[in-house]
Amino acid sequence: MKQSLLFAPTLKDAPKDAEVKSHKLMARAGLIKQTAAGIYSYLPLGKRAMNKIERIVREEHDKRGCSEMLMPALQPRDLWEESGRWAEYGPELFRLKDRKERDFCLGPTHEEVITQVVRDYINSYKKLPLALYQIQTKFRDELRPRFALMRGREFIMKDLYTFHTDDADLDVWYESIKEAYTTIFKRMGLETKIVSSDTGQIGGKAADEFMVMSEVGEDTISYCDTCSYGANQEFSGLHAGDSCPKCKGGTIKEAKGIEVGNIFKLGTKYSESMNAYYNDPEGHKVPVVMGCYGLGISRTLMAAVEQHSDENGIVWPREISPFEVHVLPLKMNDAFTVDSANAIYKELSTSFETLLDDRDERPGIKFKDADLIGVPYRIVVGKDIKDGKVEFTNRYTGETKLVKTTEISDLIK
Ligand code: ATP
Ligand code: MG
Repeated sequence: MKQSLLFAPTLKDAPKDAEVKSHKLMARAGLIKQTAAGIYSYLPLGKRAMNKIERIVREEHDKRGCSEMLMPALQPRDLWEESGRWAEYGPELFRLKDRKERDFCLGPTHEEVITQVVRDYINSYKKLPLALYQIQTKFRDELRPRFALMRGREFIMKDLYTFHTDDADLDVWYESIKEAYTTIFKRMGLETKIVSSDTGQIGGKAADEFMVMSEVGEDTISYCDTCSYGANQEFSGLHAGDSCPKCKGGTIKEAKGIEVGNIFKLGTKYSESMNAYYNDPEGHKVPVVMGCYGLGISRTLMAAVEQHSDENGIVWPREISPFEVHVLPLKMNDAFTVDSANAIYKELSTSFETLLDDRDERPGIKFKDADLIGVPYRIVVGKDIKDGKVEFTNRYTGETKLVKTTEISDLIK
C-alpha cells in the first residue's frame, strides 16, 4: 500500500478527552475517530489491525469445531420477554420502536436470538453438540463510556454459543474454548491472566474471565504469587496479603486488569425459559445445556496498544500489526532513491504486507509518523542506497543496522 493513498490522519496532539495511553496513541496514529460518546469509526489502520485479531480468533475457533454465522443487531422484544430479560436488563439496553410501535432492542448480546435460531433443529441428541459464533457489533448504553474502545456504547465482540446434551459434554467444550482463548491472546502477543468470576447479569454456573494486566484496567484481580490461582476481587473478596485458598502456601497479590474475554457455563437457563429441548435416546425431553463465550474484539485491539507502546508510539506485535514492513525513502527529489524504494516495495509486497511512504514529506515527518504507527520492521532508503544498502530497524528492539537490499526478505522471515 502506498501511504499517499492511505487514510491515516496522524495528529500531533491527542484529543482532550483521551485519558489513557492507548486512547492517545490510537487517535494520534489515525486508527480511530470518535463519532459520539462511546461510538467510534475504525479508520484503515485500525481496521487492518482488527482484521488480524479477527483472523486469529476465527482460526482458533474453526479448528475446534465452531462455525461462524451472523445474527441481527435488531432484536424483537418478544424474544427478550421469553427469557425474562426485557424487564431484567435495565437501562443498558438500547430500546426502540418500529413504525408500527412494536418494541425492539439493539442486541447487547445474543443468547435469545441464538436459542431461537437453533431450538427447532436440535430436537434430538444426535444433533448435539453444536458450536456457533459470530463477530458482530454490540450495543450497550453504558453508564460511563470511556477510554475509547475500552468501554464503548457500540463495540465489536466475538460471541460463541455451545449446545450440549449434558454438563459433562459442556465441561469438555468449555475447557477446549478456554484453551482457544489462551492461544488467541498468546498469538496476539498479549499477556493475560485467567480469573474466575461472578456470573452476574447473564446468569449460570462457572465462569472465567481473561484479563490483560494493566494499570488502566477497571477490574481488580487477586492472584497468588505461587500457584495459578486468580479471581476477580468482586467475587473472591480476597485482598493483598491474604493467604492463597488454593495452594495455602502462597500469598495473594492485587493488580488491575482489563477484561478482554469472558466465558460462562450457562446451563439450562435459556433452554428452559425459551423451550430448547432435545429427545434423549429413550425419547425423554431434556433441556439443552448451553455455554457462552465472549471476546471483545475492539477492546482487545485497544488493550494490545495499551500493552505495546513506547514514548514514540505504538509497537505492534507482528501478528496483529496493520502492516509488517514500512519502507521510507528519504529524498523524494532523488530519482535513484525513489526508484530503489519502489523496487524494494514491489519485491517485499510479494511476501509481506508492506507500506511505502511515498509522500513528498520531510524525513522528520516520515520518521515521526512511522514511529507513531509502529510497524515492526522499517526499511529506510537513504544515502547508502548508492552502495545497495538500506537501514533496517526492528521497532520492537529498536536495533538498527545497515543491510544489503538483497538481505531484507530473509531478515524479516
Ligand atoms: P464489563 O464487566 O467490562 O462490562 P461484561 O461482563 O459486561 O464486561 P460480557 O458481556 O461478558 O462483558 O462481554 C464479553 C466481552 O465483550 C468482554 O469480555 C469485553 O471484552 C467486551 N465488552 C463488554 N462490554 C464492552 C464495552 N462496553 N466496550 C467494549 N468491549 C466490551
Ligand atoms: Mg458490562
